[in-house]
Amino acid sequence: MDYTEEEFLNAEQEMSRLTSQSMQKYGIKPNVLFGKLSDITAAISKGVVQWSRRSSLWPMQFGLACCAMELFDFGSPRIDAERGGYLLFRGTPRQSDVMIVAGWITKSMIPEIKRMYEQMLSPKYVISYGECATCGGPWWESYNIIKGIDQVMPVDVYVAGCPPKPENLFTAFLKLQNKIDGKIED
Ligand code: SF4
Repeated sequence: MDYTEEEFLNAEQEMSRLTSQSMQKYGIKPNVLFGKLSDITAAISKGVVQWSRRSSLWPMQFGLACCAMELFDFGSPRIDAERGGYLLFRGTPRQSDVMIVAGWITKSMIPEIKRMYEQMLSPKYVISYGECATCGGPWWESYNIIKGIDQVMPVDVYVAGCPPKPENLFTAFLKLQNKIDGKIED
């Protein structure tokens, strides 16, 4: 049987058409079990994708001010962020899906932070780590520091403190996992 280019490019549609033609020809009724199996497969694949996302969070190596010192401690043997095997710090935004904003955000840094955010893999997540990243902190009324990273990009989890303890960042990741699982709403 000859196929036109259009039919070839739309193979899925063509397969459905041939299946339905064949069923009509032999008087076969639509297979209910087959339909249900496709629903089950869709549900399983959705769960697997969700599980893969929550189990392979790759944060970016990135710090802005003193909170970044606590971030270093997060990766140290004391906290051992990688103990679960799913928090692998990456050196480039192109291999990361979590941005931890640790420190105050000067107006001059906004374009650079935005550029890195746009270069990250999707779906991407942002953790606002510390008072400065969340609301400007001690520099609330400064002329050159913005009042929180959520003025620039969406934030998934906020961590309170000046500086917050690295253990709190671990809790933030657990919350982020629950959010990816759909257990926590925005
Ligand atoms: S929250 Fe405190 S520790 Fe963190 S960057 Fe701001 S001033 Fe520094």
